[in-house]
Amino acid sequence: MSKERYGVIVCSDCQNARCVDLSNKTTTCNHCGNKMKIKRMNIYYMTRSQKEGAWAVRRLNEKLKGKEIPEEKKEPSDPYYKAIKESSQGKDEKERLLIMARVMTKELGEFGRGDIENLAEIGDLGDVDKLIEKIRKIDDIYEPKNETFKIV
Ligand SMILES: [Zn+2]
Repeated sequence: MSKERYGVIVCSDCQNARCVDLSNKTTTCNHCGNKMKIKRMNIYYMTRSQKEGAWAVRRLNEKLKGKEIPEEKKEPSDPYYKAIKESSQGKDEKERLLIMARVMTKELGEFGRGDIENLAEIGDLGDVDKLIEKIRKIDDIYEPKNETFKIV
């Protein structure tokens, strides 16, 4: 006998996914009452855990409905998100970079290339080297070590 006890199937009538105990011979759809022989069904997902099976059912149902599964949302306290969000108030790029630098300094003490890479990715800010060049040109941003910045 298979160790994976639970399987996820899709009802042949109403196309709703459900998790079934694979040791059973038949299952009845709780949406439309369709009775199905488990052996004859496609198993989309197998697991030992009923909880994981329920998760797989939800995921598959979303997929069947053509919905995108939302990615886990980042914590709003994430300093990079905060920096990007606050910087959107800036009227030009210089001001936006300055706001980002201020948030980064406040949150992290100082910030470096890796932090700028994160910001560039989240805010879609383009080339990191170019950003660093622009940051270097802003008078209020100090570079105590190579590629480490802070607001003075
Ligand atoms: Zn059904």
